[in-house]
Order: sequence, then C-alpha cells, then structure tokens
Amino acid sequence: MKRNTKSLLKFFLLSAVTVLITVLIFRIFKSVNYVEQAHLVGLIHGAQPEESQHVNHIDNEKIDWHDLERIRRDALRKGLGEQGAPAYLSPTEMKNYDELYKVNGFNAALSDKIALDRAVPDIRHRGCKTKKYLKNLPSVSVIVPFHNEHWTTLLRTVVSVINRSPPQILKEIILVDDASTKPFSRKPLDDYLAANLTKSRVIHLPERSGLIRARLAGAREATSDVLIFLDSHTEANINWLPPLLEPIAQDYKTCVCPFIDVIQFETFQYRSQDEGARGAFDWEFFYKRLPLLAEDLKHPTEPFKSPIMAGGLFAISRKFFWELGGYDEGLDIWGGEQYELSFKIWQCGGQMVDAPCSRVGHIYRKFSPFPNPGKGDFVGRNYRRVAEVWMDEYAQYLYKRRPHYKQIDPGDLTEQKALRERLKCKPFKWFMEHIAFDLPLKYPPIEPGDFGTGEIRNLGAPEFCVDAMFKGKDQVVGIAECVSDTKKVGEQNFSLTWHKDIRPKGKSMCLDVSDPNDKADVVLFPCHGMKGNQYWKYDVEKQWFVHGGNMRCLDCDPGQKRLYVRACDMDSKTQKWRLENVNLTMISNWDNIGVA
Ligand code: UDP
Ligand code: MN
Repeated sequence: MKRNTKSLLKFFLLSAVTVLITVLIFRIFKSVNYVEQAHLVGLIHGAQPEESQHVNHIDNEKIDWHDLERIRRDALRKGLGEQGAPAYLSPTEMKNYDELYKVNGFNAALSDKIALDRAVPDIRHRGCKTKKYLKNLPSVSVIVPFHNEHWTTLLRTVVSVINRSPPQILKEIILVDDASTKPFSRKPLDDYLAANLTKSRVIHLPERSGLIRARLAGAREATSDVLIFLDSHTEANINWLPPLLEPIAQDYKTCVCPFIDVIQFETFQYRSQDEGARGAFDWEFFYKRLPLLAEDLKHPTEPFKSPIMAGGLFAISRKFFWELGGYDEGLDIWGGEQYELSFKIWQCGGQMVDAPCSRVGHIYRKFSPFPNPGKGDFVGRNYRRVAEVWMDEYAQYLYKRRPHYKQIDPGDLTEQKALRERLKCKPFKWFMEHIAFDLPLKYPPIEPGDFGTGEIRNLGAPEFCVDAMFKGKDQVVGIAECVSDTKKVGEQNFSLTWHKDIRPKGKSMCLDVSDPNDKADVVLFPCHGMKGNQYWKYDVEKQWFVHGGNMRCLDCDPGQKRLYVRACDMDSKTQKWRLENVNLTMISNWDNIGVA
C-alpha cells in the first residue's frame, strides 16, 4: 500500500511536470512567432505577411559587423591627414595649389598628398561601437555621379567604400561620369578601376546631364537590393553600411541617410558637423535643419525621422526608388531633387530616417567651381517643378518670396502629376502637419509682423532715445535726443521683429551684446536670426528690454550717452524704455512665435 501510494504520487508528479513543460514550450514558441510577425511587417523587399509565415526566426539574428582587423590596422596608421588630422602642404608642394583650387573649390593639391586609404577617426556615438545589426542584410549598389571631380578625391571615395564595406554585401560601385572634360576621367579612370578596384566601373554619359539624370543612369544599371547614392568627394567611415541597411531590411519603404561629416576644404580635417538634426527648408528653399525631438534624444544611436534629406548621401531600396518613379527626369543639373524625393517618400507612403551610427565625410566646397552650363536659372526651374507637383497651396509661400518663379516655364509636368495620382500620395498639408510640424514655428510661411515698432524712449532720461547713428561710414548704436522732439535727423525707428531681435526698421543690422561683463556695450551686428547675443524680450509691464543669455536689461548712461546692458534692477529708472507701438496680442503670445 505504501509502495502503491508512492508510485501513484510519482506518476502524478511526472504528469504535472510534463504538462508544465508542454505548456511552457508552447508559450515560448508562440512568443517567438510574435517577434517574427512584428519583424515581418516589412521584411526585405516588402514581402507580404503571407510570404513571411515561412521565414525562420533566424532572420532576426543580429551580429557584430565591425571589421576588427581593419580597425586595428587603421588605428596604427601615421602620416599626412591620417586619422583625419588637419594637413598642410610644405612650401615646395604649393606649385599647383591655386590652379587646382580654382577648378575644384577645395584644396585638391593637398588631396594628392594624402593616402587614398587614409584612416578616419571613429567619431560615432560610443553606443554605436557595441551595436549589432541583422545578420541578413540586403545587397548594395553604390552610385556616384561626378562632373569633373578631382582624381584623388574621386578615388578616395571608391577606396573608402570598398575598404569599409563587408564584401558580401557590397556588390558594385557605379561611377557615372557626367560628361567630364578632365583628361583622366575616361580611359585612365576605366583602366585604373579595372586594374585596382574591380568592384567599380564607370558609365560615361555622352552629354552633360546634371546630377539628377546621372544618378538615374546609375540606378538603371544597378542590380542590388539597395541603392546608395554618394557624392564624388566623400569618405565612408567605420561600419557605415549595417546601420543604413537594417531599417530598409525591416521596411523597404524606409529611406536612410548617414550623418554627414565635414572634410574641411582647406586641410582635409575630418570632423562632425554636430550630433544630428532633422532636415528642413525655409520658404526660399534654402536647406535648413531642425533640432532633434526629445524622443530622439533619448536614443542617441537609433535612427530618427527626418523630414528632408540633405540630398547627396542616402540609401533607398531599389524597389521603392522605382515605385516612386526615381527622380523627376525634368530636373536639370543640380538642385531641388532632395526636396522632390523627400516629399515623395513621405507623401507616398514611405518614411525617412537618419542613422546616427552611419557616418560619411563630405567635402563642402569653399565655392562652386563650375560655370553655368548655359541653362539659365535651372535651380529656379527645378524648384518650380517640385513646388507645382508636390506642394499644393504651400507653393505660394515660395512664390511670394521669389515672384519670378511664377514666370519660369516648368516644362511638361503631366507625368509627375499622374504619378502622384497613381500612388495616391497624401497632400502637402499632411506632410507639413505630421512630418515637418515644427518647421513653421522657425520658418513661418507667412512672416508674423513685428512685436513692436517706433522710437525706444528712455524713462529715466526721457529726452533720449535709442539711435543707430552713423559715425563716418560705420553705423553704431547709442542714445541721442529723440528726433520726434528735436526734429533733427537720426535713425530712431526700430522694429522688435518676430525673430526677437531689434533692428533699425527695414535693415538687417541687429542690436547685439557679446560681452558678459557689467555695462557691456550694445553694438550693431548683421542679424543672424539665431537669438543668443541678439535676443531681446520686451517686458510690457516692467518696460524692460531683457537681453538673452545671462538675463540683463537694456540700460543707458545719459551723461556719457552710452547704451549698455546691466543686471536687471527694479529700482532703476534708466532701465525702463517706452516702445512707441506695441502689438500686445503678439507679445502675449511671445513663447509661441519664432520658436523651434
Ligand atoms: N554632379 C554631376 N553633374 C552636375 C553637377 C554635379 O554629376 O552637373 C555631381 C558632383 O560631381 C557631385 C554631386 O553631383 O558628385 C553633387 O554635386 P556637388 O558636390 O557639386 O554639390 P554640393 O555637394 O556642393 O551641393
Ligand atoms: Mn558635394
């Protein structure tokens, strides 16, 4: 009996354990399935969820892609420009400095002395160094359009891509020679690549087509899953590819941009421009950048959404690129294509991110060395095409600032408009409200008026007003007797603009204080619209002009006729100023105007 009870107990215990294990296994299996399905939503090349059911969970495996051996060897390199250090030519090497500068807009003579495979500094966020990426990444075709690019900067682009890309991912590099006239651009280049850099080849365009059609020509020949476009004077940094590719592997409608570092045009020093920002534009279509969102700052190594790409450097799946019709072929030479593609990506169902762990250096030229190829205002025409097709009612804000765009013939737009219809792309208003939602705060489509205008009269010495008088050729700012009393001449009509700066009305010189000391002089300086030294807030109740930075108040010494800032003091009469016309509604909304 005792034995029986024991074995019965054993039996029950065993059964319980078996059931428990089965349930556990089942649950684990189920949760793996969930992970898979979440991941599969946008598997490589947009596989539909039905297809995805069969994909093994191994597809989620992540690995460390760093080429440790190369990193170790690079770290040991010494020499001119190595590790991205600023470099200089010796006096004997300056022979063709001027000549090469003129045709390139950067120090090409120096480039010739720096190794093609120089080491660049690893300036990625430290978290990038331990990050793993999907083991299964799509294949890559790199496309580099060039027009009269200098020999060594072009080759350094190719060499850096080959050296810093996993060979199994990098399938080809397609250079597109946009009818260059430099003698080495044809046969010598073909021969050099065939002998030394076999993954690369050149397409020679028969006539100057501009960078947009050159990129298209390259894209048409490309055979990989992902197209990566680069400028012809760039250097890929450590482990640049995996962070660009993973977001595309997860969702083929994601376009990914690397961080663009600065290769200084004079010294070839390699440095960051900053730690990331979201791309944008102002209403003259100058490329601008907006700060990262609080959410983005929490994950400094994760890709963040960006409304507009800088233009020259990005990765996009070949499938999505062609679904979007590539670029508008009607865009000529240079300019506006970054807006066209960014608008299309967002409005037509895709998204764009910047990947902080992918960095590529780019030579920002000192000046553009290329003459206009006899095509008139091609930039204006490109902008007009983009605005007409994609920007709906917002196009008017561009035309308001550049009325002559309305006179430019944009050419035939039927195909572009049909594409927008066919892809059922969203209105521009959607883009502005959901993607570039903070752009209008910094760059308002309709500029708000001024917070206040007119004379700025001191209350401690009421005969004195702020005056931007001329001393010889120089315009300076101080105080003088108010001209509305004396009827003398003076420059006393000021605007407290929506930029939150103070300028003589209609001028672009601003009241500026850079000195942190007591009684720091107020000077006139070209307006930069960046607040800081030029920020002034009018406190209607206290009648103070409070200066930004370390919070001081506009003050004056009537005896010495000096205008300066001092620590704000409730008892000071000379810190009180009456601004002639104040827009109280606007002032009460101070914090919501011109921020971002
Ligand atoms: N480019 C081109 N054809 C042109 C103009 C430019 O192929 O008509 C190439 C150029 O060589 C470079 C890229 O397009 O690789 C971008 O041009 P650029 O670097 O002059 O523009 P930026 O970077 O100065 O805006
Ligand atoms: Mn460039």
